[in-house]
Amino acid sequence: MPELPEVEVICQGLRPHLVGRVVIDVQASGKPLRHLAPLAAMQEMLGGKRVKTVSRRAKYLLIAFDDETLLIIHLGMTGNVGLFSQTAPVKVHDHVRWQLENGYELRLHDSRRFGGVWLLSAEQAEARESGFFAATGLEPFSLGCTPAHLMSLAAKRNQPVKTFLMDGKAVAGIGNIYANEALFAAGIHPARPASTLRKRDWQQLLFLIRSILSQAICCGGSTISDFINASGESGYFQMNFQVYNRKGGPCSRCGAAIEKIVITGRATYFCPRCQKESKAHPVHI
Ligand SMILES: [Zn+2]
Repeated sequence: MPELPEVEVICQGLRPHLVGRVVIDVQASGKPLRHLAPLAAMQEMLGGKRVKTVSRRAKYLLIAFDDETLLIIHLGMTGNVGLFSQTAPVKVHDHVRWQLENGYELRLHDSRRFGGVWLLSAEQAEARESGFFAATGLEPFSLGCTPAHLMSLAAKRNQPVKTFLMDGKAVAGIGNIYANEALFAAGIHPARPASTLRKRDWQQLLFLIRSILSQAICCGGSTISDFINASGESGYFQMNFQVYNRKGGPCSRCGAAIEKIVITGRATYFCPRCQKESKAHPVHI
């Protein structure tokens, strides 16, 4: 499932190929997604419009046009976007295609169809932080995202710290993979109540969240360089994770076997020695 780094890498990869291009038509498979802006509205509102910016907010890809209309794409569980020649064969799970004036098209491929596509008018786009993104937390790299901010939000929640990080209302874009990795790096047990973390814990955790996300973006950016390819192999990449999906493997720090538990319905990996419930000593990554 794509998290913040994957969407950021896709965003950076698409940007030079999309900015300045003009949408001439939009096609859809007719299959429903988790949310899909009406095809007729996309054709009407995007036809003839030039792409102005390509950016990211949380796990959403934002494509803004010259009249400030905003196209928002979420990749769900299995979604991927890539640029293809309009003559390249369309695959069975290519659900939306935005055709450009230069013979290429942006394709949203999504086998499980948990992805979403929204279209915001200029007015809705301008008010998006209080509208579309009203329930979305701060960007982890933003100045406003501080240890004190996280601590004050956590004080009101009776949640495990891992669930708190993942629910996106305090800090945006962190999913299961990076929540597991950041808590391991910080030496914090994932089931520890978020409200019990002290200021020093939040300082350390936020620093490590930023470090790990930055490494992933950097790693992904170097892994995925070609966003125009007929095979559609764009978007996802695999980091060398310390704990994620490593049940039974040795902890890179102490050698103990990584354990797997379920917290709020999600697979959770941790080192029972480095991440004791009462322990909050950080490890170095
Ligand atoms: Zn360990």
